[in-house]
Amino acid sequence: MSQEVPGLRVFKFGGASVKDAAAVFNLCRIVRQESTRGPLLIVVSAMGKTTNALERIYELGYRGEDYLVEKTALDSYHLLIGREVLAAVPAIRLQPFGPIDGILKYHFAAFAGHFHGKHKVEYDEGYDQIVSIGERLSAKIIQLALLTEFEGSEIVSLVAGTMLRTDDTWRESRVDWPETERLTRQAVAKALAAGAKIIVSEGFIGRTADGRTTTLGREGSDYSAAIFAYCLNAESVTIWKDVPGLLSADPKLFADAVLYPEVSYQETIEMAYYGASVIHPKTIRPLAERGIPLYVRSFLDPAAPGTLIHDCRHPPLAPAIIRKTGQGLISFASKDFAFISEENLEVIFGALAAARLKINLMQNSALSFSVVVDFDAARMRMLLARLAGQFRVQYNTDLSLFTIKNYDAASVEKLTAGRVLLLEQRTRSTFQFLVRE
Ligand code: ASP
Ligand code: MG
Repeated sequence: MSQEVPGLRVFKFGGASVKDAAAVFNLCRIVRQESTRGPLLIVVSAMGKTTNALERIYELGYRGEDYLVEKTALDSYHLLIGREVLAAVPAIRLQPFGPIDGILKYHFAAFAGHFHGKHKVEYDEGYDQIVSIGERLSAKIIQLALLTEFEGSEIVSLVAGTMLRTDDTWRESRVDWPETERLTRQAVAKALAAGAKIIVSEGFIGRTADGRTTTLGREGSDYSAAIFAYCLNAESVTIWKDVPGLLSADPKLFADAVLYPEVSYQETIEMAYYGASVIHPKTIRPLAERGIPLYVRSFLDPAAPGTLIHDCRHPPLAPAIIRKTGQGLISFASKDFAFISEENLEVIFGALAAARLKINLMQNSALSFSVVVDFDAARMRMLLARLAGQFRVQYNTDLSLFTIKNYDAASVEKLTAGRVLLLEQRTRSTFQFLVRE
């Protein structure tokens, strides 16, 4: 590769770390402190719960309903943070930018253009155009906020779409790695050569070769940070969160959750697979491939070491508890009370794949076959349409799937006590069970 970018670290800041002006100033202080150790690429998420709000707005707009109330609330939320941020920046540094209302209006304009434009696109494509606005607004405000700590010449903002090239699988786009590597290296090397200490970009967003905006899937900013780090062969990635690091359970549900100081890539991928929500599941692979360490640290306590995820061996971790809600249990039996055969299974798997129902657990008994899936009513209808003629299909919804990874007798006892287990399964390292909560 042409441009080497030595010593660069990538920081990802999620929605909670930029949810209001105080949080944004906290981010700026962390960046100031850390920048003494070398250049940083900052990847940001949309502010607070903006992405959820944009999804609702898009849904309304697409159906031709009135989204003005929701949109006005979202505008005011950003304007409020924007104004508070700008009030803290020395006037001289703001001169190149003009008033915040103007800056944000430029981004907000996308809405009207989209819903009232002549070229109405398919639902999923339109979703990416609208829902990505959250990251664009956030990156803009954060770029301006960093002027509280840095000179304008030290900060460069790079639009993610000009670096991260994807295909057009809307809402879950696939990365064109060679092209993304080329574009990212070129852009970042140029920024650093021009004297940038801090580069700001958006998470979650990519762009097709013909210039249309794509997204990487919900919570995809972690993945963006890993993609950029891979392309730049970065020194490390740090994900800044509102928890102290990678924990054995969600501390909101389990007060005795413990922090893992050091975890292997492999173990982290497995936790993400079972549904641990701390890191987007696609994040680890690119980092593991280039041996780039991942730190998970708390933006509320930046002096604490957090968790280091890298290529290492460690003794078995304390049991990890992972809870997946919104699960459906679907059972298939053949109509003539025959055993479920391999031929039957082939048909069932084919139908599940076609309906894009993701299997989290399966179990076979004499006369039936059951799967636990992330439930979705529309997908379930597709499945029934395909299989109801051939099988007796029964299903339950609103269930929770618990996984205890590295379980022991005490953790199983504690978690299952007093619960009715609809289904359970045990391997050497994991214990899983399904309950109605
Ligand atoms: N803002 C997007 C979401 O909430 C992406 C991200 O936060 O990682 O899904
Ligand atoms: Mg988010």
